[in-house]
Amino acid sequence: MKILSINAGSSSLKYTLFEMPEEKVLVSGVFERIGMDKSMYSIKINGEKQVIETPLKDHKQAFEILINELIKNNIVESLDEIKGIGHRVAHGGSYFDKTVVVDEDVISKVEELIALAPLHNGPAVTGIRAAQAVIPNAVNTVVFDTAFHQTMSEENYLYAVPYEWCKDYKIRRYGMHGTSHKYVASYANKLLGRMDTKLITCHIGNGASISAVKDGKCINTSMGLTPNAGLIMGTRSGDIDASIVPYMMKQMNLSPDEIDTILNKKSGLLGISGVSSDSRDIEEGIYAGNERCVLAQKMYVRRIIDYIAKYYVELEGCDAIIFTAGVGENSIHTRKEVVNGLSVLGVKLDEEANNCRGKVQKISTDDSSIPVYVIPTDEELMIARDTFNLI
Ligand code: AMP
Repeated sequence: MKILSINAGSSSLKYTLFEMPEEKVLVSGVFERIGMDKSMYSIKINGEKQVIETPLKDHKQAFEILINELIKNNIVESLDEIKGIGHRVAHGGSYFDKTVVVDEDVISKVEELIALAPLHNGPAVTGIRAAQAVIPNAVNTVVFDTAFHQTMSEENYLYAVPYEWCKDYKIRRYGMHGTSHKYVASYANKLLGRMDTKLITCHIGNGASISAVKDGKCINTSMGLTPNAGLIMGTRSGDIDASIVPYMMKQMNLSPDEIDTILNKKSGLLGISGVSSDSRDIEEGIYAGNERCVLAQKMYVRRIIDYIAKYYVELEGCDAIIFTAGVGENSIHTRKEVVNGLSVLGVKLDEEANNCRGKVQKISTDDSSIPVYVIPTDEELMIARDTFNLI
């Protein structure tokens, strides 16, 4: 059965077509600059990638071009072979704790949550509508970044603000990257050969979050109402004293949107280093003796260690720590500093094993108190799996 995995942004549409249940990737790519000038799309088949420049009016046209490509390249003979389309949606609020089949009620709830994820939920609905129009016989599903975290207890998801804020304004911790945390947690359980585990999953990319996962269920996570909570990220501040916000708005005469932009786009590694949001550039800066890059990296690593320590206590132990996403999968330097910072718990790095990028690897020594793994994430596959299972 062919299942399409879709991640729609305001001007982009990422896609991967899977043969299920074999989990074989048939084709993948991305449409970019939709509705803008210089639009283009890429298509990768059997490891060969082509980039084609063409006008892209809207997401519907992107789907039409995709279908033409699939037929032209003999990937499908007819549209009806695509039985399911799984759409990544950032925010499911408290409505959704799992992947669901799309109907009008689901769409209206996703739309209702646009205020909580303005950059993501709106485009997701555009993607769903376009898929429905172009591939009318496929079952559409929505896979939420927040769903995996819905198992958190009230004491972990509430903020200590007036209790009514949660009820009346939906102010609470939701968490993000749930599809990724779920994927690496289930992969780790397979590696450990059991389900009754205590895991700390570290999704460290440009956006970053850490989750505490017990028996396959999330019990706590570092992102909050929005993605700007918890860890220090590429351009996001992560946790700060909430009173900094009104204070700096008054000092610099900033509007709510302006301070939001500064905390989300001009803070984090970029804000402290003044150099870049990319951990590769920070590492280069460190080697070149840039003091602010050294400081940014120290703060970044400190915060990761703090969250791992916090969740170790909350889980009352840990069976494995997992690194994933861009930095987690690739930054040998950051992983080394984090694991060395956990030595008080008896966690020990295997330096040679840690010298790896983008593959499944145990990076701790055999006598480490907790095994540490690199597990590359695969959110597209997770979306396809959920969709296939629902169908
Ligand atoms: P993601 O958001 O998961 O795509 O992660 C993107 C981030 O991964 C980039 O901004 C970099 O900071 C980081 N990254 C990617 N490759 C490397 C690498 N080889 N070494 C260090 N960091 C990397």
